[in-house]
Order: sequence, then structure tokens, then C-alpha cells
Amino acid sequence: MFKGEKQIKTESVRKSKLGKKHKCTRIKTLYIFQCDNCGKDFERAKGKIEKKRLTNFYKHVCHKCNPKKFAQQQGVKQRQVLRMDASSDTPISSL
Ligand SMILES: [Zn+2]
Repeated sequence: MFKGEKQIKTESVRKSKLGKKHKCTRIKTLYIFQCDNCGKDFERAKGKIEKKRLTNFYKHVCHKCNPKKFAQQQGVKQRQVLRMDASSDTPISSL
């Protein structure tokens, strides 16, 4: 599930050739997702993810979960729903 985006500041100090310290501030944009498998929030850096994926039309799975396994489970679920729709007059006891 896509939850939104946030911006974080990252600071790094670089030393120039003359020994002067140089502070570099960069703004990073992160996208926040909720894993559709385990329900935990996770973040992805902007640019590492396709813009078209920033919608709940797509499922989002965190790095701890196996997206392939998740996709297979989704496929089974969808097939089960379709089969039930196709045979809606079947008594539940025979399922
Ligand atoms: Zn997960």
C-alpha cells in the first residue's frame, strides 16, 4: 500500500584540499509504503521505484517478505474468488 512521501535532510561534511570543512546538505525524497504481506511500513528512495507504482493498484511488499511468494498467493486468492463467482449456486457444503 502506498502511504505517501517524506523528505529527509542528509548532511555530510567534506574536507577540501585546503583543510576547510564543507557542509553539504541534500534533500532526499522517500516514499512510504505499507507491506501488503506483513503490514509493516517501509521506505524506498525516490528514483528507485517507478512512478506508476505509487498507487494502490499495485501491491507493495517489503524487503523482508518474498514478493514472488506473495504474488503467487495473490494469484491463488484471485482464482478462488473467480471460481466461487462462477459457481455461486453451489451449496457451501460442497466447496
Ligand atoms: Zn513484509
